[in-house]
Parts: sequence; C-alpha cells; structure tokens
Amino acid sequence: MMERVYIGLGSNLAEPLEQLRGALAALARLPDSRLLASSSFYGSDPLGPADQPRYVNAVAALDTRLEPLALLDALQAIELSQGRVRKAERWGPRTLDLDILLFGERLLDEPRLRVPHYHMHMRPFVLYPLAELAPDLHLPDGRTLRELLAACPFAGLERLSLADDSAPA
Ligand code: ATP
Ligand code: MG
Ligand code: MG
Repeated sequence: MMERVYIGLGSNLAEPLEQLRGALAALARLPDSRLLASSSFYGSDPLGPADQPRYVNAVAALDTRLEPLALLDALQAIELSQGRVRKAERWGPRTLDLDILLFGERLLDEPRLRVPHYHMHMRPFVLYPLAELAPDLHLPDGRTLRELLAACPFAGLERLSLADDSAPA
C-alpha cells in the first residue's frame, strides 16, 4: 500500500540551499517511493541556541511503500551522506535535518520515531511550507492544518523561492 508522507527539510550549514536541493534529489531516488512535490524554500530563525546561522527549510510530499522505520533509516543515511554530524547539543547547527512529519494516518510513539512529529504544530517553518502542498490537510488526531496555522504566526519566516522546479511534478 502506498502511503502519503510529509518530510520536513532543514539546513543551516555548508550552503543550505544546495543541501536542500541535494536532499530533494536523494528523496527522488528512494526505493519503492515517489517524490510528489516540494514546497518553496523558507528562511527561518534557529530553534535552541541563537548563536547559529539562520535555517533554510522546506517540506516535501512523498508516496512510499516503505515501512516507517525503513524510511527513517533511509532519511538518516541521506543526512549522513550530506555530512550531518550528531552532537550532544540539542538543536545545534547541521548540514541537513530530515524529519518525518506525517506518515499516512499513522500515530507512532516509538523511541526512534514519533509521528506526527511532536513539535510540528508550533513550528512556522513546518506549517507554512506544508500548507503550500496540502492546505486542506487533516492530521490523524483530527486537527486541521488550518487550525494549526491560525495559532502559529508567520514570525521569523521569509519565503526565499517559489516551489523548487527541479523536483518532479
Ligand atoms: P527535532 O526532532 O526537535 O526537530 P532534531 O530534528 O534536531 O530535533 P535529530 O537529532 O535530527 O533531532 O533526531 C534525533 C532523533 O529523533 C533521531 O535519532 C530519531 O530517531 C528521532 N525521531 C523521533 N521522531 C522522529 C521523526 N518524526 N522524524 C525524524 N526523527 C525522529
Ligand atoms: Mg528536526
Ligand atoms: Mg531530525
């Protein structure tokens, strides 16, 4: 069964725009999956430590037959292949972060994987790009994306580009 997955992309090191373009190209090559669309790129204020560069963020929509943990393994392999170094500091700077925001209608609460992503409802750099791809989205717990947007100001966000046209339609 194909399931619709939304992935949040973020980077604030080593040419963030190129990091996101590279990540989208890698998502397009995932096995048993099809990259459907990607949002515009957005500049955003960093979470956590403030002494780090601003981020570039986007959201991608993917249909996949992979199981959630297999997709997470694949995303972490892409992060590593683009030079992600895991440090003890929470929310520190990184070349690439790929988070699973939503996985079909699933509610997962496993040590390695919580879906929907536990903080997506309060992150403008997730909700606004997601709304470009799926404005009528309902979360599996019944909340609508419109409700979440209404409670989440556009603060600190800056739209950098139109939807990336290198991704397949
Ligand atoms: P945040 O999750 O607050 O955005 P982060 O993305 O910086 O923080 P990471 O260092 O990328 O956190 O990931 C830490 C761990 O989070 C990963 O090893 C992964 O197993 C776990 N994790 C839990 N839920 C998810 C999810 N929905 N998507 C990606 N990773 C997740
Ligand atoms: Mg993250
Ligand atoms: Mg992450």
